Parts: sequence; C-alpha cells; structure tokens
Amino acid sequence: MITRPESNNQEMLGEEVKEVMSSGSKVPEKEKKEVFLEFPGRWNIPYVHSAGKAATKFFTELKEKKIVGSRCPKCNRVLVPPRNFCERCFVPTTDWVEVKDTGVILTFTICYVQFTGLPKPPYAIGGVKLDGADTGLLWFIGGVPLGNQKEDYKKMPIGSRAKAVWNEERKGAMSDIKYFKPMGT
Ligand SMILES: [Zn+2]
Repeated sequence: MITRPESNNQEMLGEEVKEVMSSGSKVPEKEKKEVFLEFPGRWNIPYVHSAGKAATKFFTELKEKKIVGSRCPKCNRVLVPPRNFCERCFVPTTDWVEVKDTGVILTFTICYVQFTGLPKPPYAIGGVKLDGADTGLLWFIGGVPLGNQKEDYKKMPIGSRAKAVWNEERKGAMSDIKYFKPMGT
C-alpha cells in the first residue's frame, strides 16, 4: 500500500497545482513544461529471510572453500547452487554433491555504468558451469583489466575456463568467492 504524506501536499492538489504549473510568464500552452508532483517518503522494513535447507548448506560449505550442489534423483542433474527440488522433474533433490571450483564460462555481460549496491564499473557478471555441475552459477568474473568496451569481451571468451578466487576471510556468503577468474589470463 502506498500512502501519501498528509502534510505539505494537500495544498498542492486542485487549483493550486495549476498555479504551480503555469507560474511565471505567459508561456503558450503547447510550450509549457509538464510538472509532476513529488511525494517524499521513507520505507524502513527490517526483515529476516530464511535461507532454507539448500541455501543454508551451500553458504555453510562456502565458508570451508567448498561448493556443493544438489542432485535430482530422476534426471540425475547436479544443480549448483543447490535447489530443494528439481525444476524440471518436480521432485525433491536427494544428495549433496561437491563440485570443483573450476568450470566453463557459459555467458557473461560487462557493465560500464554504476548501479546502486553494485561495484564501481567496469565489472563483469557471468554464468559459470563448474566441473561436476549441470547448471550455471551466476557471479562476478574478474581478475582481468577492463575499461576498453571494444576489446574487453575477448578477455573472457564463452567456453573458456575459469577458476574461483576465494576470499581469505569467509563468512558463509556468496562474497566468499571474490570472482571467477578466466584461466590463462
Ligand atoms: Zn530432475
């Protein structure tokens, strides 16, 4: 539900709005700039998100420099990160499977603009299919200099190998892996 602050804005409704829009000189109707109202507000919503069985196992193992997936008993695929059920077979996964921290780059994108909560650009994010896994793990691809938009993509060719670069201090979070570094660069 969106609530509108009661104060300071009531007077902006009705005829007052028209006055604001046309304040100043006599500008011809078609040249008038459209003015939109703004309502300042603040959301403060503390919450706790339960990671569940699969993600709890995944993050706990990351702390030990291990990457685990879950196996589907029907199609036998190893899902990384692990899921509680196979989205193809609709059956619960059964076994934990440790996979390597090396794999193949499936896809990537390089970002050159700043987004809130993300690192200072340029940086790359990609999907890496780790050895022993059947799905791609989405995370940063790094360890290569970026900044040339016409050349950067050549530094992490799709199909090439990459290896996890681990943080020395790990806390059981995805950030325990700094990035996947293309091998041979
Ligand atoms: Zn399956």
